[in-house]
Amino acid sequence: MGRPTLIRKPPGAPRALPEGWDEARAALAGLPGGGLNIAHEAVDRHAAGACASHVALRWLPAAGGRRDLTYAELARLTNRFAHLLRGLGVAKGDVVFVLCGRIPELYAAVLGALKCGATVSPLFSAFGPEPLKTRINLGRGKVLVTTGALYERKVKRVLGDMPTLQHVVNVEELGLDSLPDSFPIEQTSAEDAAFLHFTSGTTGMPKGAVHVHGALVAHYATAAAALDLRPDDIFWCTADPGWVTGTSYGIVAPLAHGVTSIVDEAEFDAERWYRILQDERVSVWYTAPTAIRMLMKAGVGLAKKFSFPGLRFIASVGEPLNPEAVWWGMEAFGQPIHDNWWQTETGGIMIANTAAMDVKPGSMGKPLPGVQAALVHRVETGISLVEAPGEEGELALRAGWPSMFRGYLGQEERYRKCFAGDWYLTGDLAKRDADGYYWFVGRADDVIKSAGHLIGPFEVESALMEHPAVAEAGVIGKPDPMVGEVVKAFVSLKKDFSPSDDLRMQLLAHARKRLGAAVAPKEIEFAAVLPRTRSGKIMRRLLKARELGLPEGDTSTLEGGA
Ligand code: ATP
Ligand code: MG
Repeated sequence: MGRPTLIRKPPGAPRALPEGWDEARAALAGLPGGGLNIAHEAVDRHAAGACASHVALRWLPAAGGRRDLTYAELARLTNRFAHLLRGLGVAKGDVVFVLCGRIPELYAAVLGALKCGATVSPLFSAFGPEPLKTRINLGRGKVLVTTGALYERKVKRVLGDMPTLQHVVNVEELGLDSLPDSFPIEQTSAEDAAFLHFTSGTTGMPKGAVHVHGALVAHYATAAAALDLRPDDIFWCTADPGWVTGTSYGIVAPLAHGVTSIVDEAEFDAERWYRILQDERVSVWYTAPTAIRMLMKAGVGLAKKFSFPGLRFIASVGEPLNPEAVWWGMEAFGQPIHDNWWQTETGGIMIANTAAMDVKPGSMGKPLPGVQAALVHRVETGISLVEAPGEEGELALRAGWPSMFRGYLGQEERYRKCFAGDWYLTGDLAKRDADGYYWFVGRADDVIKSAGHLIGPFEVESALMEHPAVAEAGVIGKPDPMVGEVVKAFVSLKKDFSPSDDLRMQLLAHARKRLGAAVAPKEIEFAAVLPRTRSGKIMRRLLKARELGLPEGDTSTLEGGA
């Protein structure tokens, strides 16, 4: 409250960004003899050059200690993995699933499979048997790479129900040492499939998005533009490779840039995370609002026990980043957290607060060079463009950016429906201000229609989060015969606060003062935790289904679920 709306970029902030994708395209080597393969750009080209002995992955086991893998070592390991998979008959067009915790073998399997020309789908290791089976069957997986423990706990039970699966590889019983340490990479082209990524399932049944090797052009360009990645960086992307962020920016982009990437096997723990940032001298940190909110919940005092002299740039993705979180970044780290926006479907960052621009807390930033964004309304004849600043519309992107998904697996019609002419319609609503910054309003499905107003849950949640008692808020529309929908907020509290009628009244009054009576919630319910996806997103559709006593729908990605 009463805070400035702009955080100026520091003096001497980075160079202006290059326009378009050509510079990134030119920076890639290409396969000897033509073609493009992500694993070649990410590993082999560095292993054969000046980066050979540079650390590619610094693995931090959950049990403590660390293991470094240089680019040369990663090249050998991925080559052996490629041989192993080739020996099982894996060839171009086959789909390899990888189900491991964040261990080096996961990275080696993913890159080794790409070297074979296979399409890879990393799965989140906390999934239960059913979600695994659904995804593997949808992707017609031929090989599953996993660990002994995960096999016993999750795979064995459903093995008989996965008819396309020919082999299960246990990474603890590989016998890689006997395999050759060089491998002729499959001659893939930019349009060949590389990854199959499942969406988070926030709005319904997860969709399988197909991505191609050429997406690397966008991964490379956007890591420089939106994450300010430079050659000497120590980069930490906290997302699991089971989600697109953990692959695009946890595997592909940092390796393609030849930087050192931190891989932490353990789950979130505030103190552990601060220690990693400090001790590993992380310089660029890419994380998510849910993690930031958990750090906020632990209190800024904990952050102050550590120091982060190496930390130069912090970015966040996955959900809208409340302005309060950006301000908290200033307090805890002495720098803002840079929100950026993208989706599984876009394959890479599209809209961002970059190091080269002033940050507007609460805004997701501006389209990156090469990305053409617009706000549109769907009309009978297609779409109409929203031009006026501050007016709301559906966020659309002009098709043609390199990491655009090439299909929803098995859902051709659904894919087609995402496009109107050459615009891809994202399903998210946003506004653009006079300076060209985009502001997230809500998912089209989540927007609340109340007494003729369209209310974005994000605005209401952010206002609630300004109150010192509030750790997290999830806002839904509840059907109402008079006004269509009334705004209802579910609120979880910070550790020193407990629910009471008095606090509820305070929150209602605070929201009304900030938002006005038309937009402020009419009801507030306290909840110990809010339902979220395993990738950390608040599942408003579940809050709503539970409120209305309706079926919960697909809960395969629900945190704490089966
Ligand atoms: P599903 O499509 O299965 O419902 P999902 O949309 O959550 O799940 P993802 O592709 O992982 O799956 O998430 C992309 C979505 O996350 C975006 O469409 C947007 O709604 C939200 N999102 C991501 N980053 C931001 C951001 N910076 N600000 C606001 N929303 C964001
Ligand atoms: Mg989505």
